[in-house]
Amino acid sequence: MSTAIDSRLKVITGDITALDVDAIVNAANHSLMGGGGVDGAIHRAAGPELKAACQRLRNSDWPDGLPDGQVALTDGFNLPARYVIHTVGPVYAKNEDKSGLLADCYRNALRLAGERDCQSIAFPAISTGVYGYPFDEAAQVVLRVMEDELPNYPALRVTLCFFSEQDAAAFRQVAGRDFAQQ
Ligand code: ADP
Repeated sequence: MSTAIDSRLKVITGDITALDVDAIVNAANHSLMGGGGVDGAIHRAAGPELKAACQRLRNSDWPDGLPDGQVALTDGFNLPARYVIHTVGPVYAKNEDKSGLLADCYRNALRLAGERDCQSIAFPAISTGVYGYPFDEAAQVVLRVMEDELPNYPALRVTLCFFSEQDAAAFRQVAGRDFAQQ
């Protein structure tokens, strides 16, 4: 069953670094200094100025690193996106519920995008790569945050950018509905 937010929610398969949106979200790590996966791809595509900007953020705002669930903003430099919103997803743990921290990543990124008057934002599947969050559990968290928060940002369009068609299909399966793909 579709809901009121679906007109502003797209589910696509692709490389997030190619997206022409106001902000892309980076599944970064505490250091903000780059890493593998989507983080590495974003740093490569944005160019070395991104790392320098992250270093400045470390020095000024986050000397101990960016905590789980928090967000930090840089320019996009060589990316089509104007901004990169860096966030740190939780590392999955079987015996600990980290869904609140994963929800914080999405919620805080939406808030920051709203503060910067962004009209479009794209998210990768935070924590579902190296950080090991089970895909379906993460998808449920994402859906809940979007349903709770998107009504607060009526001008914002959200793209969920999955790296494989299999992930995009799994998301649609969890949601029980299709979404716009472009
Ligand atoms: P985490 O450490 O938060 O788990 P990863 O980068 O390992 O982050 O993985 C998060 C998700 O990003 C995975 O689903 C992975 O397939 C996906 N991913 C990797 N590269 C890209 C990219 N260029 N664009 C979009 N998604 C990507």
